[in-house]
Amino acid sequence: MRMILIGPPGAGKGTQAARLVDQLRIPHISSGDMLRAAVKEGTALGVEADGYMKAGKLVPDEVVIGMILERIARPDAAGGFMLDGFPRTIPQAEALSAAMTRAGYTLDRVVLIEVPDELIVERGVGRRNDPVTGRIYHLTFDPPPPEVAARLVHRKDDTEEAIQQRLVKYHGETAPIVPLYEAQGVLRRVDGVGTPDEVTARLTAALAS
Ligand code: ADP
Ligand code: ADP
Repeated sequence: MRMILIGPPGAGKGTQAARLVDQLRIPHISSGDMLRAAVKEGTALGVEADGYMKAGKLVPDEVVIGMILERIARPDAAGGFMLDGFPRTIPQAEALSAAMTRAGYTLDRVVLIEVPDELIVERGVGRRNDPVTGRIYHLTFDPPPPEVAARLVHRKDDTEEAIQQRLVKYHGETAPIVPLYEAQGVLRRVDGVGTPDEVTARLTAALAS
């Protein structure tokens, strides 16, 4: 299975990817997670990406495209992968498509997780990440157990201002890639409002359809 998860910031892409990859036995490739790791390690790529990310702006296409194409060429992704957060622009979608054609791969599914803008800020500001396990929590919707609460991280770009900025980028730059996948017949839309379990059930059905 070679697939992409698309959706606004906070739609639940990371939460759902973590639930699905175990059963699908494919790597979860999150451009945001890879960029945050590069920032933490202080690599040249991380230093370049940091300012864009803090402001809720998109990291330049050439930086992200190089990073992801190199990642999906690794052996563990030879049998399939789940992309989360990439592509986010038309040039990124075109670069991915060209690379997959060169490698002789076809894209099986693109799932768009739909969540109305009004719910996005609340999901983002309440998000907390566990740096030890990678698990994503929400202070209200998915509260962490007391024993992990102290070590949780609140992302620098999960402020109301940066989330609004990411939402603008989503509608302006990312939403336009949806029709490309719709035209290829691989797009499935999933309602992202409901409990995480309900959304997982919809996603599983969408992947099978
Ligand atoms: P969210 O899903 O909450 O928007 P991500 O973790 O996917 O957050 O991305 C965080 C930030 O990383 C983005 O705001 C952007 O700065 C950068 N980023 C991640 N993926 C991409 C991408 N494909 N293209 C450009 N920038 C990206
Ligand atoms: P994305 O990867 O699309 O940015 P996340 O998976 O990180 O989104 O989810 C954003 C926040 O919303 C997290 O705090 C997560 O716990 C919470 N969340 C995820 N799915 C749901 C859901 N179905 N209902 C309510 N909150 C959710």
